[in-house]
Parts: sequence; C-alpha cells; structure tokens
Amino acid sequence: MSVSEKKKAMQRKEADATVYMNFMKSHRCYDAIPTSCKLVIFDTKLQVTTAFFALVANGLRAAPLWDSKLQRFVGMLTITDFINILHCYYKSPLVQMCELESHKIETWRGDSFRNVYIQCSNHSLISISPEASLFDAIYFLLKYKIHRLPVIDPESGNVLHILTHKRILKFLHIFGKKVPKPAFIRRQIRELGIGTFRNIATVQQTASLYEALSIFVDRRVSALPVVDERGKVVALYSRFDVINLAAQKSYNNLDMTMREVVRRRSCFVEGVIKCYPEESLETIIDRIVKAEVHRLVLVDRADVVRGIISLSDLLQAMVLTPAGIDALLP
Ligand code: ADP
Ligand code: ADP
Ligand code: AMP
Repeated sequence: MSVSEKKKAMQRKEADATVYMNFMKSHRCYDAIPTSCKLVIFDTKLQVTTAFFALVANGLRAAPLWDSKLQRFVGMLTITDFINILHCYYKSPLVQMCELESHKIETWRGDSFRNVYIQCSNHSLISISPEASLFDAIYFLLKYKIHRLPVIDPESGNVLHILTHKRILKFLHIFGKKVPKPAFIRRQIRELGIGTFRNIATVQQTASLYEALSIFVDRRVSALPVVDERGKVVALYSRFDVINLAAQKSYNNLDMTMREVVRRRSCFVEGVIKCYPEESLETIIDRIVKAEVHRLVLVDRADVVRGIISLSDLLQAMVLTPAGIDALLP
C-alpha cells in the first residue's frame, strides 16, 4: 500500500469511529422529542405516596418537581426515590410505614435525608435546552448518572419532554440508518469490551425484596439479575419493577422472596433478554432497541451471569469514547 493509500485508509478508519459522535453532535434535543407525550409535574408540597400513585396511574416513570415558593423546578422524582423512601422507613410487615403516608416530597428532600439518599450533589435540577445537541444530552445523562433529563425551553421555562437513553438510542436507530455503518459495530462484544464484566450486582431468588432494595441503594445499579444458587439468571428485576409495589399497594411486605416478587409482578417483557460474548455489537444494538429495555444480561452457555451491557455502556462506547470522554468513571 502506498503512503497516500495508507493515509486514506487511516482517514476512513477515523471517520468510521466518529460517525455516531458526529450524528449526535449534529442533532438537537428538539429533534428527538415526540410530537405529543404525557408529562406530569409535582408540587413539592404533595405527599410522597400520592405522587407515586399518580406516576402509576399515568403510566409514567418520573416527574419534575416544582417549588411554588421558589417558583422554579428543583429536581426530579423518580422510582429510585421511591426505593430510597421504602428502604429508609421499612421495619417489618407488621409495622405500618406511617412516615411514608404522611411525608411530603419537600420533607423527604430536606437536609436530614439529603446526604444519605439523594445522589445529585448540587441537589438541583439537571436539565437541557431543546437547542443543545444530543451529544450534550448523552454527556449529562452519563456524567451525572441519571436516567431522566428534562428538556426545558429557556424562554418559557416549560418542560417540553424528559429525555432518556432509550429515546436517544431509538432515535439513532431510526434516523441513523442513512449514515454508513462503522466497521466496529460488526465486531464481537467480547473483543470490544463494552459493558461491565466484574463485580456484577445480582440477587438470589431466595433473598427478600428488602435485600434487593438494599442492593439498589448501596450499589446504585439500575437492575439486578435474579439468580439461582448456581449463578444462573432466572429473571431480571429493574428499578422500574419496584413501582409495581405502589400499583399493587404491596409495599408493606418487603419480606417476600424475590421468587414471589417476580411471580407477582405485571411485566411486559417475557423472560430475560440476554446476550453472549461472541455476538456482534450490531446484533446487541438491534436486540436492545427492539426489546425496549435498558440493558442486556451477558451470560455464558450455561446461563451464568457474566456481565451487563446497558444503554449507558453503548452510548459511552459509540458516542463519548470517540470524543475522548469517559463519563462512566466512578
Ligand atoms: P430512575 O432510574 O429510577 O428513573 P435516576 O437514575 O434518573 O432514577 O435518578 C437517580 C437520582 O437522581 C434520584 O434521586 C433522582 O431524583 C435524581 N435525578 C434524576 N434525574 C435528575 C435530574 N434531571 N436532575 C436532578 N436530579 C435528578
Ligand atoms: P426504564 O424504561 O425505566 O429504563 P427498564 O428497561 O429498566 O426501565 O425496565 C422496563 C421493564 O423491562 C421492567 O419490567 C424490567 O424488568 C424489564 N426489563 C428490563 N431489562 C430487561 C432484560 N434484560 N430482560 C428482561 N426484562 C427486562
Ligand atoms: P445504567 O445505570 O444501567 O445506565 O448503567 C450504568 C453502569 O452501571 C453501566 O456501566 C452498567 O454496565 C453498570 N451496571 C448496570 N447494572 C449493573 C449491575 N447489576 N451490576 C454491575 N454493574 C451494573
């Protein structure tokens, strides 16, 4: 190969690796917002149980919080907050969680709980303008380790939408079809090393729901593969599934085993959506987008859990790594 041919080949290689980064830099958050969607906003004076019942009733996962005294948005209420609240107040199935019934959102967000449970250090709303790029949205989601990013119109102050990893990857999947596929997406996931492969947080099917919630609180992971005594995955329990406890008003019994919890939950996804180390990145993207889930469980041929590949890992590898940014660092 001549020097100029080598140079061209190198340039092609570089263009390959940056194609998704450029796609995200050239599209605005506005472009990924659906034409209509449901949005609920909670006043911080609302009682926490009422707020979570309202999320369930509206089929939503999160809501921006409005402080009527300050006349501004001050944060988000998500299922993670529900988990933290349950974990904080639960004693036993025989003791009613009176605090849960009486607390207002603002009490929960007060100083006594802030340091223990509330993750975002500056304790204010992280939001983005509709004119900002999707690249910036991905950076915010990964850097602040959040799963809900409100898009706020700077002029009116209105929340237009709540962006998620899922929405952004789906947008790329639909509209990125026109961009040439980079060579690396045909490579095996094992070779690319995308995902988490060590120290995977799992829960035994014989463990209690309270133990599972404790893992969510301590490890701050978005989901737990439920495993049998040999480490084989038998189900997946995500933070989202915890909202079922509000829907079924069954949050007073966190002593149930995970086997029982999984049996009782209403779930749209059949079985566990998995992947194998020798599968290509392309296959994995197609599967995760089609299944509309936030992660795949990486297993070996015996179904033993070997890793997690989440949308955060995919967006990091496809969009931020080519820009020289590692936002997933602890
Ligand atoms: P979930 O995965 O349950 O939807 P997140 O990972 O988004 O929850 O939330 C983790 C924590 O960060 C929660 O306490 C939540 O209230 C807070 N949080 C989430 N999104 C934002 C945001 N945009 N601004 C400020 N805090 C947020
Ligand atoms: P969110 O949209 O809040 O990110 P998730 O994708 O974590 O929610 O979960 C939505 C539903 O899909 C939950 O019922 C969860 O148990 C299920 N789910 C998520 N990932 C998987 C998976 N890999 N296999 C099976 N079910 C899954
Ligand atoms: P997520 O919160 O799912 O967007 O993922 C953030 C990071 O945590 C990613 O690097 C995931 O691979 C990792 N992760 C997610 N779930 C688990 C888990 N159960 N155990 C260990 N790491 C996880």
